Amino acid sequence: MSPDGLLIAGTLLARRRMHQRDRWSRDRMLEFQGVELDRLLAYARTSSPYYQQVLPGAAHVPLTDLPVLTKSMLMDQWDRICTSPALRLAQVEGRLSEMERTGADPGHPWRGRWWLAGTGGTTGRRAVFAWDRREWTQILTSYARVNDWAGVAVGLRHPLRTAVVSSLNPTHQSAVVGASLRSRLVPALRLDARTPVADLTGELDRFEPRLLVAYASMIGPLAQAQLTGQLHIRPEKVVAASEVLTPASRSAAQAAWGPSVIVDSYAATETASIASTCSQGGWHLYEDFVIVEPVDEDYQPVPAGATADRVLVSVLFSRTLPLIRYELTDSIRLSPERCTCGLPFALLEAVEGRTEDTITLPGRHSSVRVHPNVFHNALEALAPNGWQVEQQPNKLVVRLVAPAGGTELVRRRVQEALADLTIDPVAVDVVSVTALERTRLGKVPLVKALPA
Ligand SMILES: [Zn+2]
Repeated sequence: MSPDGLLIAGTLLARRRMHQRDRWSRDRMLEFQGVELDRLLAYARTSSPYYQQVLPGAAHVPLTDLPVLTKSMLMDQWDRICTSPALRLAQVEGRLSEMERTGADPGHPWRGRWWLAGTGGTTGRRAVFAWDRREWTQILTSYARVNDWAGVAVGLRHPLRTAVVSSLNPTHQSAVVGASLRSRLVPALRLDARTPVADLTGELDRFEPRLLVAYASMIGPLAQAQLTGQLHIRPEKVVAASEVLTPASRSAAQAAWGPSVIVDSYAATETASIASTCSQGGWHLYEDFVIVEPVDEDYQPVPAGATADRVLVSVLFSRTLPLIRYELTDSIRLSPERCTCGLPFALLEAVEGRTEDTITLPGRHSSVRVHPNVFHNALEALAPNGWQVEQQPNKLVVRLVAPAGGTELVRRRVQEALADLTIDPVAVDVVSVTALERTRLGKVPLVKALPA
């Protein structure tokens, strides 16, 4: 059997075990989570020089008493955190650069053992990760749940033709996942999100995807293309990946492909999938793969219903680089409600985006942090084709793609929304553009803050 065959067989087995957990009671799931956490802590304590030093020796210390690991700590201490002495950061970074240069197939494990990926963060140093076969199987299984819960059937008679519109960079986890699963079961078409939509439609039409996975910022433009007759695909589901999906893009996708077409997913390179939507539309956390702790800026817990500044994740299956209370700078909100679907997992209410996607402005009392949703509310109706707010010294620049109305109204709306937050008056320039500039990775940040 080829390595890929082994990987797919392992994933199918892990998937069957995962399906069983869907039917567990919440108590049973929490018990499983506790056992998995103890295993992770024990492994980290004995196999990672870093954790040997920072974790308390006593067993059963509450998770909330354990130290936080930030991205910069991870990258500074990588070789000491890593539990495999054969693996060194310099070699992994070298291999990732080589993959980018040569376009090597990321689906084949490096040295026959490791699957590698780097984060696509727009700020600061990128974090890099290596996973062994067992960990990589868990990651593939976690992503498979997104489709399982969405009710997308896969089988030899139903190959899951999947079109992915994101980054073609072979060091991104999505590329590594796609290359690992490439088979008759999952024929895949990968397209670059930086390509103009008019140049994507032909390939998508020919491929006829059953599943469309796209950066959230691409979903609106693709739905518009479908609605105006330039695109003619019939995906069963559309998975919004990597970015926050705006309400206007969601509505356009629903108009183009059906009211229940959108699958919300929340994932990160560090964790694989963290949450996705069930048959009832509830956005459930993958608490059997990762423990999610919403916290404030001082790492104090934030209760369900309130918006947290950041998230600490403990990745239960992580072993090569144990991630215990690892900081993701995402602003999220858990829901205090329970879903009617019967899944034992808690609900996520909102992902408001990366903390980097917020801007801070001087206010009447103190500086005020402005979340992208403030601009959503002010701009959605006036800018159905897309918008972006960039903070510049002493002003904000609002870019609108083919705006529906006059720019003066937009300026007033934005200024009113900021005044409601007791923010000092700020100059707002509104400009109309034909398209928003994508980053090197093909993403479109809704808000661009001044560099810190
Ligand atoms: Zn549910």
